Parts: sequence; structure tokens; C-alpha cells
Amino acid sequence: MEQQNSYTIVVKLGTSSLVDEVTREPRIANMSLIVETIVKLRRQGHRIVVVSSGAIAFGMKRMGLNDKPTKLAAVQALASIGQGRLFALFDDMFRQLNQPIAQILITRNDIMDFTQYKNATNTINELMSMGTIPIVNENDTLSVAEIKFGDNDTLSAITAGMVHADYLFLMTDVQCLYTDNPRTNPEAQPILIVDNIDDLNVKTDTEGAGSQVGTGGMTTKLIAAELATNVGVTTIITLSSQPHYILDIVSNIQSHDDVPIETQRENLSKDISNGKVPLHTRFLGLPRDTKIKSDKRFWLLHGLKTKGSLIIDNGCYEALTRRNRAGLLPAGVIHVEGSFHESECVSIKVVPTKTSNIDSAVKVGHCRVNYSSTEINLIKGLKSSEIESTLGFADSEYVAHRDNLAFPPVNPSQTDLSAFNTKV
Ligand code: GLU
Repeated sequence: MEQQNSYTIVVKLGTSSLVDEVTREPRIANMSLIVETIVKLRRQGHRIVVVSSGAIAFGMKRMGLNDKPTKLAAVQALASIGQGRLFALFDDMFRQLNQPIAQILITRNDIMDFTQYKNATNTINELMSMGTIPIVNENDTLSVAEIKFGDNDTLSAITAGMVHADYLFLMTDVQCLYTDNPRTNPEAQPILIVDNIDDLNVKTDTEGAGSQVGTGGMTTKLIAAELATNVGVTTIITLSSQPHYILDIVSNIQSHDDVPIETQRENLSKDISNGKVPLHTRFLGLPRDTKIKSDKRFWLLHGLKTKGSLIIDNGCYEALTRRNRAGLLPAGVIHVEGSFHESECVSIKVVPTKTSNIDSAVKVGHCRVNYSSTEINLIKGLKSSEIESTLGFADSEYVAHRDNLAFPPVNPSQTDLSAFNTKV
């Protein structure tokens, strides 16, 4: 057998891979294939994390419910009923192949603090080093809107970033990304390799729920792919009903790694036509020199929820992003949006000049602030030496220290900053 590199791979399973949409019964045959595939990957020496949905659907089945309740407490209760059953079923199946697994339930609250974020990462890494397969889900029983990741596509991308994965597989009910919905538009063309998501010209009309039983659609997959590729994780969309495709794709990637993008496109297209590898979409992780390398920066950008915004001008933005960058001083802040406390994460938005209309501000990054919104409103535009006389105290000369500023990588082929506007 061909010698394989050892990769860290995150496999995201949606509820529709695990539960029949009509009967709500577990899709035992598909789950068995998933389990066999994951164990094979593990035996090839790869480190695997599974991000699995299904808790709520398993809970609904147990309680004989056909429709998902609208009341939050009822959904939380169903997740609590279903998660145990879901994990027990996985454990039964993995046990047949002598493969230990481990459960991780997480909310955003659990990674609000950087030390906690690192602890969660260390635990997942330790579980992989012990040879187990961590199975992650959002802790739906305890999470409410403010602390939710929202959907498991996003959670899987954050998990992939946390463990510095090489690959993230988003298993779904279409073979790959198309230029339009292939179910309604026969002209829709498959997209094989994406090296810049911002250049994509696709219609994702599966906005919101992708199926009756899950919460994702193609839109959340694209957001997840962007998040993961920014941190260097190549993200793959492939068919959830054929989990063994993962094995073929992993060995195909291995044979074509490190060749120029156009050659990769040609090779992949040939391999797909020759039936060497199934149809799928690859979003290439950003190259080493462009991707987010620091855990803290990834955490600031994607681990935390933002509470408001600070508007700065372009000159200040340049100072914050140049090589030997500065911290954000009160003098740089033009306007404060929303209400937030000290230490919370806020968006940074940029306008061309101090006198520009703030409605045109473009979101460019995140920071953790040293002062509350009320305090920043009082000190904005002032010199740092005036903070004490204005507030009666001066905890820091900076509104945000440079270690607490984070901007996403700019894809080498991307020039338009507004691309970040809706995505963080
Ligand atoms: N965490 C949810 C569950 O386990 C699913 C979320 C999702 O499908 O994105 O049921």
C-alpha cells in the first residue's frame, strides 16, 4: 500500500447523515460506513476529530415528536435526551472495531477566555494522542443564543482551527459545490477547486436549513470553509451518503499536494473523469505565509462574539496593521457603536477619513478592549495622557493593546477589504 503522510482531519457530520429525514430513525447503515471509514483513516495513522450533530433529532425520536419544538427549553431538553443516545450508538459501533471514542460538548462560553480556549485545544489534542476519536457537538442543552456557535459547520471550522487540522470534511447531501442549485438548474456546473472564496460566483439558495433535520445549508458551509481556509485548513465538501469517499480524497490529495493551482485543477478534473476520485470540492487552505498562524489571533477573530464596534480612519488602520504595528489609542477612535464592557470583543470598522460618513464603515477586524463603550465614548479622539483626567483613572494608555487586535489574512488575490464585512 502507498505510504501516507499523517494528517489531522476533522469530519463534520450533519444530522441528515445520521437520521432519516422521514422516519427520524438512525441511519444505521450510513453510520456504520462512517465508523468504518474513520477507523480506517485512524489505522492509516491520521488523527481524527468528528464533529457530529444529531442530538436534537435523536431526542425527538426518543420522545416521539415529529416536529422540532419552537420553545428553547424544549429543544435544550431534547438535546439532553438525544446526545446520550447518539454517543451511545457511536460507542457501540466503534467498540466493534476496538476504537475508543471521547465526547466533547462545547459552547462559546467555554472558550471565552484564552486560557480556557487553550485548555480545550489541549484536551482534544491529548485525546487524539491517546489514539481516541474525539466526537464534538455543541452543548445545546446549556447554550442559548448569545453563547451559541449556531451551527455545526461553524463549530467544525473552529475545531479545525483549534487543532491546526490539515483537512476539514464537510459531509453533505450534494456531491460538491455547484455554480447554482443542481436540483433546480440543470446547467449548474461543479466547482472543483476554490483558491479564493471571495471570487466565488455561486447562488446558495439553501439559505437556512439544508434539510428537515439539520440546521446547515450551503451558505453555512461556505462561511465555515472561509473560516477554516484562513487558518490554513483545506476544506472539502463531499457526499455524506458515501463516507468512504474521504479515503479516496485523502489519498488523491496526497498524490497532488504542492503543485501549482492550475495543475491541481487539471489533475483533479482528469482523476474525476477517470473515476480515480469521486466528485468533490476543495477549498484550498491559505498558504503558510498568508494564513493565520497564531492561536490568539484565530481565537480573537472566530472564538469570541463581538458586542459592538469601534470606528477608525484609514490612517489609524494602517498603523494597526503595519509590520511593527501599534496598539489602538483613544486618539484613533472616531465613533463607538453598541454597548460593551471592558475586556469584551468588538469589531473594528474603517472609514477613509475622520470626516467620512460612518455609515460607510467597513468591518476589518476584531479587538478586545481595555475600556467600556461608555468610557471609550468619553476618551475617543483624546491623547492617552488625558485619559486619567477624563475618567478619573487610566488602566491603560491603549483602548486595545496590539496583542488584542486581530485582522483576517488578506488572500493574495483579494484586494477588496469589504469581503470581511459580513463574515466575521
Ligand atoms: N447541535 C445540533 C444537534 O446536535 C445540530 C446543529 C447543526 O446541525 O448544525 O442536534
